[in-house]
Amino acid sequence: MVKDVEFFRDRIPVFRDAEERFFSGQMTAKEYKGISGGFGSYAQKGGELGMIRLRMCGGHMDKDKLSFIIDECRRYGISRIHTTTCETVQLHNLTGDQIVGIMDRALDHGINTQGGGGDNPRNVSATSLSGVEPGEKFDVYPYAKETEGYLLDIMTEIRMPRKLKVTFSSSDRNETHATFRDLGFIANDDGTFDVWAAGGLGSNPKIGIRVAEGIDPSKTLYYVRAMVDTFIAHGNYDNRSRARTRYMREDLGDKGFLQAFGEALVPLLERGGLDIDPAPETFPEKECKEVSGDRIFRQKQPGLYYVAYHPVGGDVPLEALERIRDAISDIKGAELRVAPDSTIYIINLDGDEAVRIRDATEGGARTLFETSVSCIGSTICQQGIRDSNGTLYAMIDAVRAAGIPDNALPRFRISGCVSSCGNHQVGMLGLQGASKSVDGKPVAVYNLTVNGCGLQGRERFGDAVGAVPVERCPDMAVFLGRTVAASGKDFDSWLSTEGKDLAAILVDYLV
Ligand code: SF4
Repeated sequence: MVKDVEFFRDRIPVFRDAEERFFSGQMTAKEYKGISGGFGSYAQKGGELGMIRLRMCGGHMDKDKLSFIIDECRRYGISRIHTTTCETVQLHNLTGDQIVGIMDRALDHGINTQGGGGDNPRNVSATSLSGVEPGEKFDVYPYAKETEGYLLDIMTEIRMPRKLKVTFSSSDRNETHATFRDLGFIANDDGTFDVWAAGGLGSNPKIGIRVAEGIDPSKTLYYVRAMVDTFIAHGNYDNRSRARTRYMREDLGDKGFLQAFGEALVPLLERGGLDIDPAPETFPEKECKEVSGDRIFRQKQPGLYYVAYHPVGGDVPLEALERIRDAISDIKGAELRVAPDSTIYIINLDGDEAVRIRDATEGGARTLFETSVSCIGSTICQQGIRDSNGTLYAMIDAVRAAGIPDNALPRFRISGCVSSCGNHQVGMLGLQGASKSVDGKPVAVYNLTVNGCGLQGRERFGDAVGAVPVERCPDMAVFLGRTVAASGKDFDSWLSTEGKDLAAILVDYLV
């Protein structure tokens, strides 16, 4: 049975009751988290305000969803809009009343917040430019959408040990990290999927293991259900820190995990009933007019373009969203795609429209370094140790002030703690918030790693360089940028030649 909007609306009073008790001091933070996460909301640090996470399957945001977000932000004076590496949009600094109102009205716009947190199937992500990117294998979004619907449908009937992140990738860029998620579908040239499972970042990160090759995409949901069933049967319900799927694989061993997965899959395939045949996405046809320029790219559809806009730090200014809404209001087929690295793509534009949208989205990242990714950080996140977002802004300010040229610094990935919501392990340079004892005293630091990579076939977690005190991060970035710029090379070339011993080069910035 496909659950309708009213089914989810009818559950909201459970959240309402919990938020009223929590925000009035009658419920503990732990108890509240156990309930609120299932509705896509968490209390923020300090316990006085909360956030809500809006599911955006595949990062798709059409005009109606965009308008909804803008209207809610104006209604409540919300100024903190943050995109996440799972392609969701988070609204911050909300009262309980406001969260309930947004949760309820979101359902009228095809946005379900439920299951956005807690031990649930999270937003199903997909390559943000799937369907439009030249050179992709095939459009994976229709399968991601079917999967999102299926998981929402079964969500309230299953009890998993912890969250399950499912993703789809349409190109070797592996933008959604499909080879190291709980479950990842990788598109092949021949129109099939390879399926990877039980990987993940966070503590004890692991590249996934391939559980199937060359499956017919119509069988996708059998693999989704097999993973859910395997997780329910073999996941760790006693120790939350070992409850993610990668630990299940560790406990069973790779061979044991593959066997368990197969044992779950075979009866599902025999029983049938989960085949899918989603309708392909459609794209507008527009008159071909050649344009080129900064942040304007060709789609695979002749005559169509997309524009890339990267809000610095993943924080999208409300005014920028309003400018985009106004600019695309009369553009046929235009929509937004939220990428895991916080880039927002505006797609399905003809040449003139692309130039207009480019002009309407000035003010984003100016260099590769300024597209660095950070999680929301410890000023908001209860689990956070360091203000990753604030550190990124401080580094960008310092690098701008120092006039460091583009390509002298790479994209950093910064997480406020070991949970890796900034995906620091796969950053060319990664920073993970931590503490380090120096001369018997705790020092607030980021653990710096180098040479991480998320590209398909080249997946690699970064090597440890050392610990950088928080307040030294901006100077470290400036020093590194100046050093690379003086070499006349870009960062990657420099790193593989003069920059090999990064710990020695950065010794003055490490403790
Ligand atoms: S990495 Fe840590 S600080 Fe950042 S959002 Fe995740 S849990 Fe919070």
